[in-house]
Amino acid sequence: MRRALLLVLVLVTAALTACGVVVGGGSGQGDPVEGGGGDGGMATAEARGQTFTSDVELARELTEAYWKQTFAASGLTYRPVTDFIAYQGDNGPACGDQQAVPNNAFYCPAGHFIAYDENWMRELYRQMGDGSVYVIIPHEFGHAVQIQLNTAFRLNVERELQADCFAGGTLGALVKGGSLQTEPGDEDELLVNLAAAGDPTDDWLRPDAHGTAQQRQTMFAKGYDRGTSAC
Ligand SMILES: [Zn+2]
Repeated sequence: MRRALLLVLVLVTAALTACGVVVGGGSGQGDPVEGGGGDGGMATAEARGQTFTSDVELARELTEAYWKQTFAASGLTYRPVTDFIAYQGDNGPACGDQQAVPNNAFYCPAGHFIAYDENWMRELYRQMGDGSVYVIIPHEFGHAVQIQLNTAFRLNVERELQADCFAGGTLGALVKGGSLQTEPGDEDELLVNLAAAGDPTDDWLRPDAHGTAQQRQTMFAKGYDRGTSAC
């Protein structure tokens, strides 16, 4: 555990000093002021990614922009999710005949949408910082990409670890490309989230393992360091 943490820190610290503040992209007006409380790592007042809501929107926007570009580079067309749904507790959308559960985020292949328990994710954001959003959302989009690539997995854990790798690769590309700026402390947030919060259960897809915290951190770091093509 300790070693994995150090490994990821070494890999991540090179380029990552934190994540969540974004330059470029423009439309930062109208973000509702929210009680983000103990979130460290936020920077200038002008930048997007200053509130839970804007971080969530930004994570979605940047992740899909990344995949659109990446698919296009391979002569493929990325298909954006049909919906991105915030729900509360038991009020989540069904996926096929499966009901959404509280305290989760998930990708639904049948409807090609992503949904998340807003209060759950907001609490993670408050407790652990914006890194939670930038791990969970790219992870779920990773599943949306797997479907489009028709990737076959023998084990659910392979699916989950590749989604972690995709999340790391996406984040790495956004940081290296300048879409995301990082701040001191964000690397710790990312690690904490991988170990604790970055593991949405995806219960109805497969109720199996997602991988140990060490495996997840290693795969995230692999993606971050070498790109999604290495996943
Ligand atoms: Zn997953």
